[in-house]
Amino acid sequence: MDNTSDLYQELQKLRKLLEYHSYRYYTKDKPEISDYEYDMQYRRLEDIEKEHPEWITPDSPTQRVGSKISGGFAKYTHDRPMLSLGDVFNDHELMEFDQRIRNDLVDEKLEYIVELKIDGLAVNLIYEKGKFVRGVTRGDGRVGEDITNNVRTIRTIPLHIDSDSEHIEVRGEVYMPVDSFEQLNEQRIEDELEPFANPRNAAAGSLRQLDPNITARRKLAFFAYALGGNVGLMIQSQEELLQRLKEFHFHVNPEYRKFADMSDVIQFIHSWDERRRDLPYATDGMVVKVNSFSQQERLGNTVKIPRWAIAYKFPPERAETKVLDISVSL
Ligand code: NAD
Repeated sequence: MDNTSDLYQELQKLRKLLEYHSYRYYTKDKPEISDYEYDMQYRRLEDIEKEHPEWITPDSPTQRVGSKISGGFAKYTHDRPMLSLGDVFNDHELMEFDQRIRNDLVDEKLEYIVELKIDGLAVNLIYEKGKFVRGVTRGDGRVGEDITNNVRTIRTIPLHIDSDSEHIEVRGEVYMPVDSFEQLNEQRIEDELEPFANPRNAAAGSLRQLDPNITARRKLAFFAYALGGNVGLMIQSQEELLQRLKEFHFHVNPEYRKFADMSDVIQFIHSWDERRRDLPYATDGMVVKVNSFSQQERLGNTVKIPRWAIAYKFPPERAETKVLDISVSL
């Protein structure tokens, strides 16, 4: 192993840089670079690690979800880890994802559910005998922050669901609608406070307030899209799950579709290239998920991401590159 090579030095530099930006993004809710720039640096690190797997360490940003969590809230260990998603940036990479799945599930019938990727933050909601008892951030994927009192202020999160189950975990995205985000930033500018860089950071900053009264004023909303484990609800697929979540009175994003072919998935994704800008909430991509839970289980997960899903990231918007301009001029 040549730890003095230029490539190794570059790897070390990238890890430090990505760690710093993750801290700004996840812990401080104040990114200094655009997501696209972060993603490109991350990709470069992944490429170097692919070339030199002997250099991979468990603390590399490619092996960890999120960032260190800050103090202030009680910590809660998730029953099942909350993972991130692998990402792709073009059609070719989507076709490669499809091929990997088909290589693993030879001759099986395959269906994909494609959902909008809501640009917010993932939370885990715990219900016991139908009663909401705890809300937790994703944190580092294993341990999150207990934000129960703040979650209670979000009106689109039901405090009771129609279920006798001892324990159900519903996962999804807390987000800030675009009009609330714009109003909040106008107010912050008036109050001579720094505006939030984007709705995602505004949502994260609002949800992780020590005073739930502040969270309550921030007009957050929630879309449900996952369970923290299959808990005897007899659900066999993502499609059935989304239906059941609606029956539990969660908001489920209505734009999801089911496809059998990746070429149709790609067409659907591109139908959102422009239209997504008219949505009342921010999206940063689309998530393609293998529909069948039994196939998902067989495909499994890495330490960081499921192998049965992928996020297609939309190209950066001009507004996102503005964040980059600011950091460059500082
Ligand atoms: P991610 O945002 O790329 O994807 C995973 C997340 O997508 C999930 O945890 C969930 O919160 C969310 N999601 C939204 N809709 C979903 C749906 N329908 N189904 C499933 N999941 C859905 O991964 P991440 O680990 O949360 O964050 C990494 C990303 O954060 C980077 O790719 C980068 O874009 C951004 N980031 C930016 C900076 C910066 O400085 N700008 C720093 C760190 C991270």
